[in-house]
Amino acid sequence: MKISAPRIFDDGKSVVVSADFICGQDRDTLWFKLATEYREYVETERSDAFLVGLLFYAMIRGEDIEIESTISEKLYYNLSNYLIPALTLANPKLLPIKVFPAKLATESVNIGKSVGTGFSGGIDSFCTIYEHYANSRCPQGYRLTHLTFFNTGSHGDLGGDEARVLFNKRFNILKEFPKEIGLNFIFVDSNISEVLQMNFASTHTMRNMAPVLLLQKLFRVYYYSSGYRMDDFRIIGAASDTSSYDILNTAMLSTESVNLYSSGTQYTRVEKTALISKYEPTWRYLNVCASDDHNCSSCFKCMRTLFTLELVGNIQNYSQVFDLSKYSQQRKRYIAEILYNKKKYIYRDIFDKMIKRGFSVPFRSRLIFACLFVLRFFRKIIRST
Ligand SMILES: [Zn+2]
Repeated sequence: MKISAPRIFDDGKSVVVSADFICGQDRDTLWFKLATEYREYVETERSDAFLVGLLFYAMIRGEDIEIESTISEKLYYNLSNYLIPALTLANPKLLPIKVFPAKLATESVNIGKSVGTGFSGGIDSFCTIYEHYANSRCPQGYRLTHLTFFNTGSHGDLGGDEARVLFNKRFNILKEFPKEIGLNFIFVDSNISEVLQMNFASTHTMRNMAPVLLLQKLFRVYYYSSGYRMDDFRIIGAASDTSSYDILNTAMLSTESVNLYSSGTQYTRVEKTALISKYEPTWRYLNVCASDDHNCSSCFKCMRTLFTLELVGNIQNYSQVFDLSKYSQQRKRYIAEILYNKKKYIYRDIFDKMIKRGFSVPFRSRLIFACLFVLRFFRKIIRST
């Protein structure tokens, strides 16, 4: 793979930074688009964002990467020695490759001294905001100044118009919160999903850190909200989701200009939910739904959040963003689901909290659980005959 030097186009409203690349017989262009007001912070001298954005593209094809311009020396060192080998351990479909930049740069380019994180309205991002903005104990240099919202795959793995429409729709819903608390909200569009054509969960860290590296003149510190507690760190067998080793990913994608952190790794999801439930804006802005723009109050993410809020004693504060009567209709079935799946990662900490709290399981939930258990028993017998 050969990546050309980035170029910038400014129409007075938006800035588009792009780089052409050739990989085997394929020629394409990767681009990022953001508001012109951030132009002075867009890094065009170094190709760090394009290298990271295209890393999986090259690794899945086993293509070394030749870069026509400069990259940060620290990023080159981290990728070559640690991150590329780690990715091959996590996902055997990714092949070991080498990076050949035209030049390495050792100076920091950061001028903005800003602190940022992505904002989706979910538990993980609100936990990062609570810890680094609402919490008065957060040191000044680590206190958030900007929230971000990227079109890099979370609105549709393969991109395209449908994902872009959802991205714009979600941005319009979310933008009120940063405005209310006085934080800047940066919107970055990109064609990275269209270029990669890969599953989002297995590639999300690189996709989301590429625009951060594009803005490394602005961000001195950036938090990437974690979905895992640090003791669940795992590389082997983590091909389907890069989250379980984000502590390593973020450290290895940091440069001389920006320090990336996998934030919230000290907490379980139940602990995060308990923490943010004390933060009043979440009562009006929490948005966790896996199936809709607004909380549907019945998908697995809505149910998990609602039951956790019930366990920590704060569910009544969320009547503006959830349909609590819809939740109560499905609550007993969901409790049975937890009992049935208590060893699985996503249910484990909720089950532990139920035990610690001495939660009294409703009779109907016990009955559904017994039915599920019997069904599983018979399925096993049928399979073994
Ligand atoms: Zn939902």
